Amino acid sequence: MKKLLVASNNEHKIGEFKEILKHIGIEVVGLKDAGIEVEVEENGTTFMENAYIKAKAIYDMLTNKEDYMVISDDSGLAVDILKGAPGVYSARYAGHHGNSKKNNEKLLAELQGVPFEERKARFICALVLIVNDEKVLKVQGEVEGFITDKEYGKDGFGYDPLFYVKEYGKTFAEVSREEKNVISHRGRALQKLKAELIGLI
Ligand code: IMP
Repeated sequence: MKKLLVASNNEHKIGEFKEILKHIGIEVVGLKDAGIEVEVEENGTTFMENAYIKAKAIYDMLTNKEDYMVISDDSGLAVDILKGAPGVYSARYAGHHGNSKKNNEKLLAELQGVPFEERKARFICALVLIVNDEKVLKVQGEVEGFITDKEYGKDGFGYDPLFYVKEYGKTFAEVSREEKNVISHRGRALQKLKAELIGLI
C-alpha cells in the first residue's frame, strides 16, 4: 500500500494530517521519515501555486515513486481589513521565516485600534495530492474567524493564539487538536480529499 508523504517539515502540520486521516488506514509520513531533507522555495503568487510547487518538487525527488503519494499543503491567514495580508507571506510576515512570535506581534501592531467586528480573517489551505504521473488532485478549504487583541491559549502553532472562532468561542490555541480539525481550513480541505484517498488505498 502506498504511504502518504506530507511535503512538509512542520511537525504540527504533519500531526494534523495524521489525526484527520487516522481512521482511513493510510500511513502518513513526513519528509524526515522518508529521508528527504530539503527546503523548497515557495515563489508562487497563490496558495495553490505554492502547494503544487512543493508537491511536484518532492515527487520529482523520489526514487521510489511507486511507494508514495505526495500531499502538499500551502496555507496562511488572510485578514480582510489588511486586504488579504499576510496571505502567501504568512510564514515570513515579519521577515524571518517561521518566526511566529514576531509574526503575531506584527499582526497585532497592524490591527491596533481596529474594533473586534472589523478584524475578520480567514485561514486558507490549498492541498495538492500527486497520486502518480497522471493523477493530480487539488482542493481548498477555509475557516472564518476574528483576530483577537492579544494571544490566548498555548496549543496549536503560528497564528492560532490570535484566531478566534465563533463556533467554539475560543481561539484555535485554546481548543484541542480534534476540535480544531473539525472546522479548520486544513481539516475541511482534507475532508474533500478523504473519499478519493479511500478509493486509492
Ligand atoms: P506554509 O508552511 O508555507 O504553508 O506557511 C503557512 C504559515 O501560515 C504558517 O507558518 C503559519 O504562520 C500560518 N498558518 C497556516 N496554517 C495555520 C494554522 O492552522 N494555524 C496557525 N497558523 C497557520
